[in-house]
Amino acid sequence: MKYIGAHVSTSGGVANAPLRAKEIGAKAFALFTKNQRQWRAKDLSEKEITTFKKNLDDCGFKPEHVLPHDSYLINLAHPETDKRQKSLAAFIDELERCEQLGLTKLNFHPGSTLRQISDEEGLNLIAQAINTALAKTSTVTAVIENTAGQGSNLGHRFEHLKAIIDQIEDKSRIGICLDTCHTFAAGYDLRTPETYAQTMQEFDNIVGFSYLKGMHLNDAKSTLGSRVDRHHSIGQGNLGLEPFRLLMQDPHLDNIPLILETIDDNLWAEEITLLYNLTAA
Ligand SMILES: [Zn+2]
Ligand SMILES: [Zn+2]
Repeated sequence: MKYIGAHVSTSGGVANAPLRAKEIGAKAFALFTKNQRQWRAKDLSEKEITTFKKNLDDCGFKPEHVLPHDSYLINLAHPETDKRQKSLAAFIDELERCEQLGLTKLNFHPGSTLRQISDEEGLNLIAQAINTALAKTSTVTAVIENTAGQGSNLGHRFEHLKAIIDQIEDKSRIGICLDTCHTFAAGYDLRTPETYAQTMQEFDNIVGFSYLKGMHLNDAKSTLGSRVDRHHSIGQGNLGLEPFRLLMQDPHLDNIPLILETIDDNLWAEEITLLYNLTAA
């Protein structure tokens, strides 16, 4: 069974997210539990939490099919200690918000070296930060998103993801979210049955499918290996439809949230229908 949805808006409050997801025919969704471009956020009120849980249940979503995304400001690899500490505190706050909402996953970008430290040092700092954050919380799984490798962002090589996971003390609470646009821009092709199989085999060999806890389904304006992060609507970019047909028929994607972050939210309902049709195409 495939659980397809989109990263929906929380305007008016987090409790609106399940309603918006249901409106577009989603069986999964992503959301920000706070403004993604600000450091500080008000605590979630009891009322917001209760209403969110009620709406989630009323709309028929299970917590494991929700994939919250953390703030874009957080950089767990920041070379400067005080800035890294600020990011870690915000990351812990994000995990706590997910726990309060009864959610089980938090999706985040690993971090960036800002070209001031080596990739290896950056990956070590990220792993240490995740260990600290997991020790301070109890239920949420930290789900690292692979990146396009734009600028000095880490996480574009499967080896980076493995290097982080290897250092995590509680491996039951670490996972991976593969973004199709990022994967392609990072240089892993998905456009034919052969290249798709090769990329997925490489992911399995290096990281392992047991860690795959979600996916972002995005076509790409960027090209193969460009390391440029530009999403496009499904079937309209350089990936085309074939990778999505292959994904929809891949049992490794069963029972995990599959989230659209495509550029035109007016198309989400259509894209979800299109993807469900591809499960049988
Ligand atoms: Zn992301
Ligand atoms: Zn993504």
